[in-house]
Amino acid sequence: MLHIKGIGASAGIAVAKAFVMETPSFDIPSHKIEDVAAEKARFQDAIAQSKKELEAIREHTLRELGPDKAEIFSAHLLIVEDPEIVSQVNDKIESENMNAAKALDEVAQTMVMIFESMDNEYMRERAADVRDVTKRVMAHILGVTFVTPASISEEVIIIAEDLTPSDTAQLNRKYVKGFATNIGGRTSHSAIMSRSLEIPAVVGTKVALEKIKNGDLVIIDGTEGDVFVNPSEDLVKEYEGKRADFEAYKEELKQLVNEESITADGHKVKLAANIGTPNDLEGVLKNGSDAIGLYRTEFLYMDSETFPTEEEQYTAYKTVLEGMEGKQVVIRTLDIGGDKELSYLDLPKEMNPFLGYRAIRLCLEETDLFRTQLRALLRASAHGNLAIMFPMIATLEEFRAAKALLLEEEAKLKEEGIEVGQYETGMMVEIPSTAVMAKQFAKEVDFFSVGTNDLIQYTMAADRMNEKVSYLYQPFNPAILNLLHNVITEAHKAGKWVGMCGEMAGEELAIPILLGLGLDEFSMSASSVLRARSLVKRLTKSETEAIVNEVLNMDTAEEVVNFLSEKFDIKK
Ligand code: PEP
Ligand code: MG
Repeated sequence: MLHIKGIGASAGIAVAKAFVMETPSFDIPSHKIEDVAAEKARFQDAIAQSKKELEAIREHTLRELGPDKAEIFSAHLLIVEDPEIVSQVNDKIESENMNAAKALDEVAQTMVMIFESMDNEYMRERAADVRDVTKRVMAHILGVTFVTPASISEEVIIIAEDLTPSDTAQLNRKYVKGFATNIGGRTSHSAIMSRSLEIPAVVGTKVALEKIKNGDLVIIDGTEGDVFVNPSEDLVKEYEGKRADFEAYKEELKQLVNEESITADGHKVKLAANIGTPNDLEGVLKNGSDAIGLYRTEFLYMDSETFPTEEEQYTAYKTVLEGMEGKQVVIRTLDIGGDKELSYLDLPKEMNPFLGYRAIRLCLEETDLFRTQLRALLRASAHGNLAIMFPMIATLEEFRAAKALLLEEEAKLKEEGIEVGQYETGMMVEIPSTAVMAKQFAKEVDFFSVGTNDLIQYTMAADRMNEKVSYLYQPFNPAILNLLHNVITEAHKAGKWVGMCGEMAGEELAIPILLGLGLDEFSMSASSVLRARSLVKRLTKSETEAIVNEVLNMDTAEEVVNFLSEKFDIKK
């Protein structure tokens, strides 16, 4: 048995066979071939195998996710046998003695270029399909294994270097019992998605991909960050027991679904949920969340092959607002860049993407893109209780510029006779400059939401994706707590409310000190809401307030952690 230690990203236990998912890298050979007939047969074979796979994926998708999602694979099946592609590849093999891989590569590249340069949006989208399908055929020609989460049809634990957000979005909970990745930390996006899907996950294991083979029996403990490979029968039994206990605890918490989030001495807070897509609504309602404190709209862009239209966005936002029946929904404008990329937005490679051209910086430059989203949001505001939030604000000028565009679009809509509802306008506090300058910002915003994932990364200068420096992800560092203190105090002085939508808001050990500091809204993965409610009900506001000064004056994160765990009897 092998024990691998990683970072617990999503609580829960899973026991299943490993499904190793490696991203294939293609080395396209350049050699000439002699046996033309054999090379053509190789190409034909690769097509036949790809076709078989695509048919199976289409069937599976149809059964599990419905005809809409399956349609894309029908389109892929047409492309895989497209006579134009097939004949051009065969021509190159025949007349230039080119090997099949190189021939396909050249033909595919030309095809993609032609599609991409077309005026018609529908045709442009086909470029991505051609790329996808030819990658699959290429993998067969070169004998490289090609897998995607959509092709999984038995109970497994996925083992991968990392999962992209769209990989994670494709995961089918029925089959994927958990995952373990080599890279990432608690706040990387695959980790966040695993919590919203309620799939146990361990990230940042460094070696899982090298050490685990397809079919190995694996236990993952997403609470403790443990991965066991080919465990003994006794250990499997022990973990089956732990899994049952975990499920029973989850059942018990369900009693709190319709209860208020109120401390034992009568102080009300909001326990809200973070979501990535309208599909997450189900979990939000099931867990009795008081609001949605963060809707990360970038998933709408990442799950698409081109920019989502105003209408598509409007529909998504409206669905969420209506689903929440008057409870507040904080929708964040596009936060792309860093570890979130768009395949169809060609951004130059940067030395430090987390410090680069991203989020509001990009939106204030690409104003057409931004205005489309703002219009969709403003139109949706007529259907519920909306708060619009700008990410990655560093300066007041940025906030003012974003708000000015919002007001311009609102005026235009009203001129067109389109209804716009009431809404609030706020910003993320995730860059230290804004936490320090909270007093000035508080005069101009309706609310703040603290993004601790980034605020900690930038304050401690520690990349949130790099497990080597993950020890510096220190929510309890007095530096962070003092910044929070300043943000909340200044906001309250100006009569504004403060939420927190970074992962810290859902950490049990953090809740007492955040409550003491006066945080108004705690936004976390929906699956953590009931656990947080159970804790809030046991605490009193007065006991948490009484410790604030002492904690703010401590020297190290460790000191704070020890003090809080002892005082409130909570394990870190
Ligand atoms: C954050 O930075 O804390 C946050 C909530 O935003 P994201 O994780 O999407 O960067
Ligand atoms: Mg952030």
